[in-house]
Amino acid sequence: MVFESLVEKVVSRIQEELDTTFEVEASGRHIHLSQEALDHLFGPGYQLTKAKDLSQPGQYACEERLTLVGPRGSFQNVVILGPVRSASQVEVSATDCLTLGVKAPIRESGDINGSPGFVLVNGTRSLSVDQGLIVAKRHVHMTPEDAAKAGVSNHEIVQVQVYGERPLIFDDVVIRVSPQFATYMHIDYDEANAAGFKKGMRGRILKKN
Ligand SMILES: [Zn+2]
Repeated sequence: MVFESLVEKVVSRIQEELDTTFEVEASGRHIHLSQEALDHLFGPGYQLTKAKDLSQPGQYACEERLTLVGPRGSFQNVVILGPVRSASQVEVSATDCLTLGVKAPIRESGDINGSPGFVLVNGTRSLSVDQGLIVAKRHVHMTPEDAAKAGVSNHEIVQVQVYGERPLIFDDVVIRVSPQFATYMHIDYDEANAAGFKKGMRGRILKKN
């Protein structure tokens, strides 16, 4: 009987762990394009070619790659994520900024007002965009159900403990809630390296108050 109750305890503990933690994904540098930018770089009416679905429903990595050019350095083969958006945007890490020679602000995706511009190159075609270079603010995408379970709301700032090889607590993590989302945390490669990231790493929200 004692053994049975111990097993039950362990099982309910494991279930609780799964309920309250989520997978953390590391995002490399990537490009979002408007249809206008796509037309300019690939030709009028060009359609992106899906290479791989991402964890967020409807989002995908494309076959097409571009060169991202900064004042000091550049990156080749930067992946484009689809579908097209209303405004072009490039997300890089703080380390990438040093290579490019430009200082990008830490922003939520889509919040690009006043951010630096960038240059994209596809073979002989190039496009200069006057704003949209950002370092993505670390965030947790959540379904409304998971947000309710965790007791957090859209745009709330929390801490997240991650269980990598170098466990750490990220502060200043923004919660983003939408029925369009699947529940995953997104960090960049600088943050992933700091945490000893491996695929499948999980995180847990620590409420600040
Ligand atoms: Zn994300």
